[in-house]
Amino acid sequence: MKYQLLDMRDNARLAVGLVERIGEETSRLKHTPLATDGAAREQNRPIADHEEALKAVAAELAHDGLGLDSPELAAIGHRVVHGGKQFTEPTVIDDAVLKEVERLIPVAPLHNPANLTGIRTAMSLRPDLPQVAVFDTAFHTTMPESAARYAIDVQTADQHRIRRYGFHGTSHAYVSRKTAELLGKRPEDVNVIVLHLGNGASASAVRGGVCVDTSMGLTPLEGLVMGTRSGDIDPAVIFHLMRVGEMSADEVDVLLNKRSGLIGLCGDNDMREIRRRIDEGDEEARLAFEIYVHRLKKYIGAYYAVLGRVDAVAFTAGVGENAAPVREAAVAGLEELGLAVDGELNSVRSDEARIVSPEYARVAVAVVPTDEELEIARQTYALVANRAGERND
Ligand code: ADP
Repeated sequence: MKYQLLDMRDNARLAVGLVERIGEETSRLKHTPLATDGAAREQNRPIADHEEALKAVAAELAHDGLGLDSPELAAIGHRVVHGGKQFTEPTVIDDAVLKEVERLIPVAPLHNPANLTGIRTAMSLRPDLPQVAVFDTAFHTTMPESAARYAIDVQTADQHRIRRYGFHGTSHAYVSRKTAELLGKRPEDVNVIVLHLGNGASASAVRGGVCVDTSMGLTPLEGLVMGTRSGDIDPAVIFHLMRVGEMSADEVDVLLNKRSGLIGLCGDNDMREIRRRIDEGDEEARLAFEIYVHRLKKYIGAYYAVLGRVDAVAFTAGVGENAAPVREAAVAGLEELGLAVDGELNSVRSDEARIVSPEYARVAVAVVPTDEELEIARQTYALVANRAGERND
């Protein structure tokens, strides 16, 4: 569980933190009160569930005099992973919204239950405060049916709500808009391929600020090679593993989500470690890197074709922001498409959004640090400020 407390007058972070390994013996809460002394505090103790985690966070905030009971608190924004087809915008949470998020649990069994616990806990702590759901799928609801539908029997698909929803939407929205800003243009005038490469990874094609395709599907399993997920695979591999390998559906699920991708290929899912091993001549790590980059390149090519004209390719998240060799390898050989990186610019380390392609390149290659918390806060605040405005009219 990640959290931030933000002052929306200047987007200043007052407190940031995270709770890791919830439900395990080795849970850890790390809280950094940036508004006061800025010294991080840690709690290392078992934290049973997301309710206990959020209550522990509330206590840390109260300790700094920034408790959830503060009259200055305008709203709480929640990242909700799956909003299905219906939630296309940030939404003030009421009973009907809670029911709908609950109805979507079958398509997001790992995420939506935890999201619901967080929301209900926050509501119990501040029942009077607007709570807003910002959906990870919302930015992708503009995808045309040609991109959103799988080519399977329509009735079966509709009955089980099987279609491509896409995830990381808050990040894709933020980064595509920031990239336009970096180019000195309006989002409406720019076509961008966004590559969100964290532990989970996804690509999107954004035309004039609107998402027209993305690589994750019904669940976050589809698309790019990720830290522990396979990404695209022949679905027949699953039947094969069940029939010939005698694995259960749950076992295949765990294999593809947790024991595949980089970790399955070479035993490491951290790109830093993989690069270190490659430098030492490790062949297994090199092959894992090449498979990762090959898939990335295929998606760049595919989304180039989907968009027809590309103004920028933007790299973001842990790997995209930090791993210069990934960016270099992903666009290597694509000069004919107007894509190149400048070795020197690409190797500079910085927290700022920046262009790393040479001046002559037709397509800008950009590194744009994502900021999902700020984007959630921005969307949440815009919604509640708007509502307050309407009430005053
Ligand atoms: P999450 O998807 O969990 O939010 P992040 O976006 O924080 O993840 O990305 C985490 C991943 O970023 C790590 O697993 C690691 O592979 C990669 N990463 C982080 N820092 C670096 C770095 N300096 N160089 C290369 N890779 C990095």
